[in-house]
Formats: sequence, C-alpha cells, structure tokens
Amino acid sequence: MEICRKHLFELPDGLIYMDGNSLGPLPRAVPEAVAHVVRGEWGAHLIGGWNADGWMDQPRHVGDLIAPLIGAPAGSVTMGDTLSIKVHQALSAALEMRPDRRLILSDEGNFPTDLYMAQGLIRQLGKGHELRLVPPDAVEAAIDETVAAVMLTQVDYRTGRMHDMARLTRAAQAAGAVTIWDLAHSAGAVPVDVAGCGAEFAIGCTYKYLNGGPGAPAFIHVRPDLADTIRPALAGWLGHAAPFDFDPAYRPAPGVARMRVGTPPVLQMTALQVAMAVWDGVEMGALRDRSVALSERFIAGVEATCPGLTLASPREAAQRGSQVSFRFEHGYAAMQALIARGVVGDFRAPDIMRFGITPLYLDESDVDRAIAVLADVMERRLWDDPVHRRRQAVT
Ligand SMILES: *Cc1c(COP(=O)(O)O)cnc(C)c1O
Repeated sequence: MEICRKHLFELPDGLIYMDGNSLGPLPRAVPEAVAHVVRGEWGAHLIGGWNADGWMDQPRHVGDLIAPLIGAPAGSVTMGDTLSIKVHQALSAALEMRPDRRLILSDEGNFPTDLYMAQGLIRQLGKGHELRLVPPDAVEAAIDETVAAVMLTQVDYRTGRMHDMARLTRAAQAAGAVTIWDLAHSAGAVPVDVAGCGAEFAIGCTYKYLNGGPGAPAFIHVRPDLADTIRPALAGWLGHAAPFDFDPAYRPAPGVARMRVGTPPVLQMTALQVAMAVWDGVEMGALRDRSVALSERFIAGVEATCPGLTLASPREAAQRGSQVSFRFEHGYAAMQALIARGVVGDFRAPDIMRFGITPLYLDESDVDRAIAVLADVMERRLWDDPVHRRRQAVT
C-alpha cells in the first residue's frame, strides 16, 4: 500500500512541511470529529457523555491504537497528561523497584524536561539519588550494578542519533537496572519493538509524528508482567481500582490503568483517536525504508549545494531516526528565511537546523524543492537580514 497519503492532511498549498517531528499537521478528518464530540456529545449529552459516549474508556482505547506502532501488546498502553508527567511516573516507579540503588543513568543529549523531571524527583525523594549523564556512545559502558534506572530517549531531538534499544535494554537488564525508553521521536517515526526488547517502561508524546495536535495526551507503556506490581507516585483517582467507590484509601487499578491520573482530555483524545486512522495499512518497515530514502536524498542534495552547512546527524542511516539536522552558525536566521519561502523546519540552540522526514506527507519532489530553496537561501545569503534574526519565543 502507498505510504504517502498527503490527501489525508490539511497542508497549505505550496508549503513543504518538514517539522512533523515537532508538531504533526492536521489530519483532515479531525475537525469534524472534534466538532461532533463538542456539539453531539458534550452539547447534547452533558454529563451523560462519560457513560453514553465512552469518554471514560478513551485512554485505554486510544492506547490500543498506539500500541502496535511501538510493538506493545494490546492493553499495555494508557494515555493522559503530557510526556513530562509520564517521565515522572515511570522514573518514580522504576526507582521504587530498585530501593537499594541510587543511580539514574541518562545521556547528555536527552531532552531537558526528562532531565529536569529526574532532578526534581531526586530532590523530592531526598534519598541521595544521583543523575549521571554520559555521552550517548558511552551509555553502555556506564551501565553497572549500581544503576537503578537507565532512562534514555531513543532518538536525540537535536541530532536524530538513535540508540540501539534492544542492545541497551539487554545490557541494563543484565546489570539489574530498570529501563525507561522515551519514544517521543520514535513512535510513528521508526519501527519500535517494545515487547521484543522487554523494556520495563516506554513513554512518548503524540503531537509529533502521531499528529495528535498541540497538547495531545502522552502515552505510557508498562511491561504487562510488572504492571500489577508497580506503585504509582501520582496516585490519581482515575488510576484507582474503583474510582466511583470514592474510597479514601488508594488501591491501584489492575495493569497499566493505574498510570492514569485524573480526568482525560476528551477533546484532545478525540483528535488523537481520529488522527490515528491515517496509519491504517501503514507497515512501519515500509515507512522506514521511505524515510531512509528521503533522508539520504536530502543529505546528498544539501551537501552538494550548501557548503556552509555541516551534517549534525549520523551519516549512517541505521544510526539515525527520522530527522536530518545541519549545523550552521546563523542557523536561526537561515531557518526563518527558509520558512518565509515556504519550507518549514525548525531550529534548536545553539546552531542546529532541524528537518523532520515524514513519508506520510513528504515525497521526493518536496525534498528536492526544499533542497533548492535552502541552496538559494545560502547562496544569496538571504538569512543575512535583521528580520530573520529576531528571535521568537518558540524556535
Ligand atoms: C517533545 C519531547 C518532550 C515534551 O514533553 P511535554 O511534556 O509533552 O511537553 C519530552 N521529552 C522528549 C524527549 C521530547 O522529545
């Protein structure tokens, strides 16, 4: 089946969107479905919607739509909150599973919020835990019997460098450490086999490659054989075994449902649920082949025409996720110049120009056009304009 399905997305005419790794575009079916939930369910049924319209089951139902994309079994994924909260939930549970160990191992390229959540949790626990950051390629060697949790983001948000999930999970488990994989830049981007590698926890967001929209809920997977044993630190009423008993004492729900916290964001969850339909018939191996082919084409084209840019992503496809990054001293201004000409990527400090490769709505002609516009921006120094240097809050 054809991987490219641009017609399912609302993409402004003439725009080449290479920022789906940051915020996926709007699937065309979403507005009507959300409007229906607003008027036909909330408007018509009011409080009755929780029962009549299945709102309360959405986190499980949508989790089951995400599960196949990350290689997790049905019933092992639940939805809610944002990814930062899921980091806290997974890490706090992991540390409780290894009460005699004090080390959290991560890498220097990890996304700041993951590291901040760890720092805050360490302070709150007050038990002398330590967050140790090593270069990405030194993670495996740093795993030993003192490590409680190995907390990694599989694909580096800046460079696109990709960890070998199976290998590092094996190494962690051999040393008795618990693994937490952040799949923010993996879910919907590369094939993932959470069950195959046996990771204890996997978490991720859904507004990037999964196109769930700004503020879409995050996902969390807990390995099924552990899910009934973990003790949630954020013990919310909707993760209780019987929320409507209103029992003053917390008793966790069976399975991953205990990772639910509070009221699900029904409208956001609806947008995500409908957005997941664009994956019907998409085989992740085939998507990956397309992603690699488009990435190689983009790298070759940019390197042939833009001598001022330096590849920041691994050159070898097997070590790259589904994005390509280049370093350029004036990268922010160059990206602004590019966006002004209809090619949308983004910028990450200090000097990274980032381009998401999303085969669902990008093809060779888009990539070629993006290369040509970028070459023009560089050749004619179109970035060298005060208008493009003015920093906005979101880069
Ligand atoms: C995008 C991203 C986040 C964002 O977290 P939110 O709580 O959804 O804002 C966190 N971690 C990683 C690795 C990310 O790539």
